[in-house]
Amino acid sequence: MIESPLLEKLTGYINGRWTSNEQGNTFDVYNPATGEVIAQAASMTEDEVKKAVEAGKSALRLTSPYPIETRRKWLEDIRDALKANKEEVGRILCMEHGKPWPEAQGEVDYAAGFFDYCAKHIQALDAHTIPEKPKDCTWTVHYRPIGVTGLIVPWNFPIGMIAKKLSAALAAGCPSVIKPASETPLTMIALFSLMDKLDLPDGMVNLIMGKASMIGRVLCEHPDVPMLSFTGSTEVGRQLYVDSAPQVKKLALELGGNAPFIVFDDADLDAAADNLIANKFRGGGQTCVCANRVFVHEKVAEAFGEKLAERVNRMTVGDGMKEGVDIGPLVNKQGFDKVKRHLEDALGKGATLVAGKQPAELGDGLFFPPTVVLGVNREMCCYQEETFGPLVPMALFSSEEEVIAAGNDTEFGLASYVFTADPERAQRVAGGLRFGHVGWNTGTGPTPEAPFGGMKASGIGREGGLEGLFEFVEAQTVPRGF
Ligand code: NAP
Repeated sequence: MIESPLLEKLTGYINGRWTSNEQGNTFDVYNPATGEVIAQAASMTEDEVKKAVEAGKSALRLTSPYPIETRRKWLEDIRDALKANKEEVGRILCMEHGKPWPEAQGEVDYAAGFFDYCAKHIQALDAHTIPEKPKDCTWTVHYRPIGVTGLIVPWNFPIGMIAKKLSAALAAGCPSVIKPASETPLTMIALFSLMDKLDLPDGMVNLIMGKASMIGRVLCEHPDVPMLSFTGSTEVGRQLYVDSAPQVKKLALELGGNAPFIVFDDADLDAAADNLIANKFRGGGQTCVCANRVFVHEKVAEAFGEKLAERVNRMTVGDGMKEGVDIGPLVNKQGFDKVKRHLEDALGKGATLVAGKQPAELGDGLFFPPTVVLGVNREMCCYQEETFGPLVPMALFSSEEEVIAAGNDTEFGLASYVFTADPERAQRVAGGLRFGHVGWNTGTGPTPEAPFGGMKASGIGREGGLEGLFEFVEAQTVPRGF
């Protein structure tokens, strides 16, 4: 069992208090590196979810809103608490998710960055009067909190994903009902332990855990929850979209990706290979912005494949708490089996193994070695579906038009990358790719300072940047006649 001063309670948190879990229902939390159960967290009832919404409603202030200075202080306090507890929150994150401890600490820093950004830019949410005086009136625009929000997050960034949503919700003055993924509730509990010590109003942040379908239904149906912000699979996002339609709720959706990573023949191949490694193997390949299809110009495919294999063969796979480990285990058996199926399918349909192991040599644990295959095409699962694991599938291309069409050959439109030395070509390709994020000569993903989100089936809305800061407010216009 995991021991931590940030995990003294393993229950929900409603109206400024830990819940009692009178029913005694729990679910197991595993360490994917060892297979051990490390905690049992409370599985909450429908009644408790409703109580969390009521608590949020009582914390919402409309006629006398929380001043901007108060909201800024909340954000700064959470940022400081995360920074001060980076090692411990990172350790908990590593033990339930599997990603290496240093990487997990980097995620805590990343999360703190969202609270920091919102604190620094919260003034943008202040009311302003427009310079024109149409219709003989003075027009003031206010940014009102939309209300109690449901925030649902996945396991792949247990602290990063909630930070994006919660920072903007608190900046807006919106109380939240928060649901972590069942694989990674402990990092969220640690965050609530930190917030419990801060001066947040009771009911401003509420933690619920348990049966996802019940929680999703209650939040979609509840008339006092006007907005849901969800990060996760497109399948669940679609369901929430449908279920919240009768009340015309606002939905912010950060969904799946199928990122193309395009390497032209004029690219700096070493830089492209280094960036692909950093991009692809972060979180063991379990991120929505990981390259999922690597398109390499046919003239440089062999050279690029060699550079990649060289780097991949130097990587260490193991328990993320051990020093020197680059890649931890996959989060669960389902995830492992999916990557294995994609590898088998690609090899069975004619791709060749450039680095990694044959499926039969993979063993029983959740450790999947970094793997590179060449000769991938659109008939293969790894081209069509998000692999969510350390498999690099390389496909060949010969022309710019062909590769833009291939990149867009997916229902998703989250992250994409292009490596070329030609700025004009980079502009043309970025314009042609229907993706919310296009890295040019970089494999970097999102940052707190810039908006990030998907086109097409990858989502609705943006997180980060000023666009993200405005996600949880509604503009209200007040023309004054005299
Ligand atoms: P998931 O199965 O959709 O789960 C995400 C969250 O939704 C979890 O908290 C889950 O709870 C909950 N959930 C499941 N069914 C629900 C329902 N019917 N109603 C309400 N909530 C429900 O996704 P995942 O497998 O954890 O995450 C991987 C996916 O997230 C990938 O597709 C990835 O691309 C995407 N993602 C996107 C972004 C982005 O920024 N666009 C970022 C990260 C990840 P339980 O854990 O209890 O089932």
